[in-house]
Amino acid sequence: MRLVAIRSVLAALLAVPLLLTPASGRAAATTTPVDPYFPDDGQRGLDVVHYDIAVRHDPRVGRLAGRATLAVTARTTLRTVHLDLWLPVHRVRVDGREVSWRQEAGDLAIRPPRAWQCGSSHRVEVAYAGRPGRVGPSSERPFVTDGVESVVAGEPHAAAWWFPADDRPTDRARVDLRITVPARGRLTSISGGRLLAQTRAGDWRTRHWRFVDPVAPYLVLLAVGPYRERVTRALGRPMRIAVSGTLPAARRRSALDLLGRTPEAVRWLQQVLRTPYPFADLGGVVTGLDLGFALETQTRPIHPAVVPDPLPTLVHELAHQWFGDAVPVRRWRDIWLNEGLATYLETRWGAARGGASMTRWLRARYEEHSSAGDPFWELRLDDPGPDALFAWPVYLRGAMAVQALRTRIGAEPFQRLLRVWAHRTRPASTPAFEETAERISGQDLATFFDAWLRADHAPSPTAEFGLGPSAEQRRDGLREQ
Ligand SMILES: [Zn+2]
Repeated sequence: MRLVAIRSVLAALLAVPLLLTPASGRAAATTTPVDPYFPDDGQRGLDVVHYDIAVRHDPRVGRLAGRATLAVTARTTLRTVHLDLWLPVHRVRVDGREVSWRQEAGDLAIRPPRAWQCGSSHRVEVAYAGRPGRVGPSSERPFVTDGVESVVAGEPHAAAWWFPADDRPTDRARVDLRITVPARGRLTSISGGRLLAQTRAGDWRTRHWRFVDPVAPYLVLLAVGPYRERVTRALGRPMRIAVSGTLPAARRRSALDLLGRTPEAVRWLQQVLRTPYPFADLGGVVTGLDLGFALETQTRPIHPAVVPDPLPTLVHELAHQWFGDAVPVRRWRDIWLNEGLATYLETRWGAARGGASMTRWLRARYEEHSSAGDPFWELRLDDPGPDALFAWPVYLRGAMAVQALRTRIGAEPFQRLLRVWAHRTRPASTPAFEETAERISGQDLATFFDAWLRADHAPSPTAEFGLGPSAEQRRDGLREQ
């Protein structure tokens, strides 16, 4: 995610009020939460293998009706199964039979007739309908509509406003998605993955989207509107870009030009990370709605109507295809790994195209925040708290820590670290990142990471913290890198 328009120092100091832990419908004591930041999210021991979702939505009406069939496997014995969904449910079946269930706030508790044994697989069907604009806590509004276009996008939550999900980043599943919209005008639907089929029945048009690669629920996009699309091939993959027809003609052209630079940005990222783009499909969307942020929705990042710095934002969201999408965070407290790396890469893209060198950039940002008592350092990067996941220090201090690490351990070990991290098959966590950096560099980095991630004041401006000239630079006569 990248917030747009929040760039001032003052705004940077404020936690972004996107989040509030919703009132729990679940007896919190019955299970250990998967993520202490959001104790109501997801179900420990549940593994969704596949979502088959069919939804119908008309932006003029604002209602959304859906049926979802989840193929799931129990990874422990489960008596009650919790899914996340805010829209009112009217029927639940498990393995073809109606079962008892209870929905309270965003928690759908399903009681199968017999406990699920560890390793057993089941089919859960949920039928539901409601107005996604009128459900959920007032602090979270991932459904945005103006009556012409509708988008569901948000982080850390979005899925529960339009389909029942095991809503956590580490339970990734394949998804088939059939979106039905009125057949009037140019109205159509956009999601991630690949468009498999389009059909028309009476006044309704349905598109079938498939995520070939597993995806976390919050990274599945729903956009309905009068989109103009361009379909090409790039990097050996289908690439579909979409721009809202509600945008003025000049803005539509610039949005298409921007999204058209996706292959260039992905090629550059592949080179820097020495890792292939992780998914089978490429693309991007520019909506006509003022979302206030861009988001790394998998294979097709979404950008709002207006972005002050569109190209860095494009690179940022594409960098998340590796860091965030292909390599999810284990817990939300580790969000700096996503945002710090994406912000670092977006900055390095600028440096490679005539901007200040990364060394100068780090020095300048450090000097901006080096006065005693600067609140920039108050936030603990590896535990910012659920209300400050997207506070500006998570991005900037995160990216500074990454560049400082490069100076501290040297460009070559740093390069290996990026590559190993981009290839990671297990979820990301801060301890794992620190351990990997120490293993690859052969250095004890405990003091370094304490200073950058956990201290409440600026690190000393010395080589130990990646702020003085590095050993390499001293050897090479202070060559900038
Ligand atoms: Zn981001």
